[in-house]
Amino acid sequence: CGVFGIYAPERDVSRLAYFALYALQHRGQESAGIAAVERGGHIMTQRDLGLVSQVFDEQSLRALGGDLAVGHVRYSTTGSNAWENSQPVWRSDRHEIALAHNGNLTNAVELHAELRERGVAFSSTSDSEIIAALIATHTADRVEDAIADILPRLRGAFSTVVLTRDKVIGFRDPAGLRPLALGQLGDRYCLASESCAFDIINATLMRDVQPGEMVCLGERGIQTRQVVEGAREAFCVFEYIYFARPDSRMGGNVLQVARGRMGEILWSEAPVEADLVIAVPDSGNAAARGVARASGLPQDDGFVKNRYVARTFIQPGQELRKHGLRLKFNPLPEVVEGKRLVVVDDSIVRGNTTRQIVQMLRDAGASEVHMRISAPPIRHPCHYGIDMSTREEMIAHDRTPEEVAAELGCDSLHYLSLDGVYEAVGGSRDTHCDACFSGDYPLEDGESANGKFAL
Ligand code: 5GP
Ligand code: SF4
Ligand code: MG
Repeated sequence: CGVFGIYAPERDVSRLAYFALYALQHRGQESAGIAAVERGGHIMTQRDLGLVSQVFDEQSLRALGGDLAVGHVRYSTTGSNAWENSQPVWRSDRHEIALAHNGNLTNAVELHAELRERGVAFSSTSDSEIIAALIATHTADRVEDAIADILPRLRGAFSTVVLTRDKVIGFRDPAGLRPLALGQLGDRYCLASESCAFDIINATLMRDVQPGEMVCLGERGIQTRQVVEGAREAFCVFEYIYFARPDSRMGGNVLQVARGRMGEILWSEAPVEADLVIAVPDSGNAAARGVARASGLPQDDGFVKNRYVARTFIQPGQELRKHGLRLKFNPLPEVVEGKRLVVVDDSIVRGNTTRQIVQMLRDAGASEVHMRISAPPIRHPCHYGIDMSTREEMIAHDRTPEEVAAELGCDSLHYLSLDGVYEAVGGSRDTHCDACFSGDYPLEDGESANGKFAL
């Protein structure tokens, strides 16, 4: 998911939230929503299934108005893809708030049971409403004190923005699993999952919100509180590899550059006799440039991608994914015919994409297809907010890379090593999560917590 928040009474905050969500659209395409409020007034929310451009129009943005706002684009990992699960979640118990959350709680079942016992009712099946309910029902007078009190009780991943009647509050889980950045717009401030949302509204990236930190944006500027200190940091490496936009900045990297380095290292780990480098667009583009640079081989577009087809992976269900792929890529026989190809993509999960890519290239006349993947084999499910599907569905879960290559029908296959990933991003395992590759889950709940939550 993608989240955004802004406090700027002299601006059209709903419109700024709309543009910011547009820039975060790649983080979720199932639903979109904005909650806005005029200082001291009542919170207004507009949310629906669909893309940002489908959910909002001129009229709805004007109706929202407001001095401060939060927004959300959703990609479902828990709860169903129903309207009720779209965000921001609005609650008015003791406190009136709207909340937008990216991540996944691993103790949602326990917290939900506890809240039900206290007589709290829910209108959705998302773990995000649990966070909202804990805050909105809290007996503290100020919402920020409520958040500081409940934050240590939440387990898992949560980059969260909360709208109150006069503040926008952002907080991040103690491990910092999912991103959340702080931006500046004139003398006002905003929060977003990725810095590309700041670029589009002319805000500047100040810094990341720290793991375990709470940041309040209001009339007095920024106030910050380190709620949890000294926890093991575990930022998601898959954000670097695939999930975030290449023009976003994370951990001191512009991802386009970091992904280019992944491609260079990928080539140095597994060079091959070949004629041409092509990317699987768009997720393989940056790494393919790195492969071409390092190999000295020419690079061309082997496919034209239909840019009106959304991310295939995000559409739930295997059937949709398969159809989606045919629609999405059309090979260029004139480019690939008779060529020994190095084909670069970011990751293989189920293998559907790669299997069809290889087949399409062979049908188009490629003489050899050498797959180079800028991520290690994905063998373990993600508990922290990325839909990696089940272990059984992962093509690498019980196969060696050679077996995967045979399964996918390519002439060779190499996955970037985990060391290569860390070299490319200039980070280390001690401060990142790589559980979907390594099986080492950074939070103590480990593999036993499935994180799934259903009412
Ligand atoms: P597969 O067909 O192997 O299941 O999917 C792999 C493709 O989906 C890769 O090309 C990659 O770009 C994309 N992908 C990999 N992981 C994710 C993910 O977690 N979310 C989304 N939306 N796409 C992914
Ligand atoms: Fe990211 Fe993988 Fe960890 Fe999930 S398991 S948070 S996708 S590195
Ligand atoms: Mg892809």
